[in-house]
Amino acid sequence: MIDVDADGVVAFTQALVRIPSTNDPARGRAERPAAELVEAKMREWGWDPVVYEVEPGRPNVVAVVEGGGGDGPTLMFEGHTDVVTEGDLSTWTVDPFGGEIRDGKLWGRGSADMKSGLAATLYATRALQQAGPFPGRIKVCALADEEGLMIGAHHFVAEGLAADVDGAIVAEPEAGEICAVAKGALRLRVDLTGKMAHGAMPQHGRNPVPAAGALLAGLAALQDELQKRHPAHEHLGAVYVTPTVLRAGSEEQVNVIPAVASVFVDVRTIPGVDHQEIAGRVAALAGGDGITAEVAVLVDRPPVDVPVTDPVVAALAAAHRAVTGEEPVYGGVPGSTDGTVLTHWGGVPSVVYGPGGKWIAHQSDEYVEIAEIVRCTRVFAEAAHRFLNGTH
Ligand SMILES: [Zn+2]
Repeated sequence: MIDVDADGVVAFTQALVRIPSTNDPARGRAERPAAELVEAKMREWGWDPVVYEVEPGRPNVVAVVEGGGGDGPTLMFEGHTDVVTEGDLSTWTVDPFGGEIRDGKLWGRGSADMKSGLAATLYATRALQQAGPFPGRIKVCALADEEGLMIGAHHFVAEGLAADVDGAIVAEPEAGEICAVAKGALRLRVDLTGKMAHGAMPQHGRNPVPAAGALLAGLAALQDELQKRHPAHEHLGAVYVTPTVLRAGSEEQVNVIPAVASVFVDVRTIPGVDHQEIAGRVAALAGGDGITAEVAVLVDRPPVDVPVTDPVVAALAAAHRAVTGEEPVYGGVPGSTDGTVLTHWGGVPSVVYGPGGKWIAHQSDEYVEIAEIVRCTRVFAEAAHRFLNGTH
């Protein structure tokens, strides 16, 4: 087993949690200070990280650690430096940015999602490097804006940095489950345009409000049909077509038929479901009878479906078995991660695995078990060793 610096990885996680790198650039808070700490640690170890300014104050930090042991594949370790905001402070019983260690847990915003995972990728790579030469190389990446539009991961792919990567391990909190599948997300905005009129003379207008009602009924039927055609996935569950926002008219003008009604739809998909087809179906359901419909795609993140036989997944599963003595549990990611971007747009097989509970992310009193941070660092080091040597 590769020897990891257990105290070091915990202390580094704590230091990261103490930096409020919330994804809140409008209020002057973003990733930079956390990214600088990552960069400094990399330099301390003699690595040569490159900092990419994705947007002002929002850098990606990427270090390539050559194994010096001859030809071999390129493994990518991925973490994000942003965290969601702390929200209502009164719902916390600890300082969200205190990094307090108590009862075997490290508490604070980002402790699970995902500063512990990010720290584990760095310390695993360092451990492997200190254990001697290895084939190939590891690309250690701390990216920006996973909690937003994932501009960091998109920038990484656009810069061509994914081109030479053979497999990526994304260190999101998944409670020790190996997640090679992730749900897709498609967010649509449907604008229904009719003609404004006085409520007393509806015959002179075209009312988009009943059209919005018809669309809602159609969306429910579409969901039924999709769920029948695509049975629930064993790790991801069902396809959902959920209207989340409905906007039309004005409370101050109850006697006015509005010109426009808007419906926003949050679609969650599983492998095999075609996003373009769904957008087309929604467009076909909307409008008609003098109402024109326009469908805008706000977010389009396809589902991820990497086979468990892929070398990066197999290496991780073998490492989990070797380090923990337990059979790996396979699961799915309920939302999207930077892995979605890496796999879909970068062509890189990705798998998500990291310390921290699946449901603790984004909540008050977020925490991660200290033992889990150390265990995951060991699994990462072992997974890298196996992936790069092709011995999974
Ligand atoms: Zn995350």
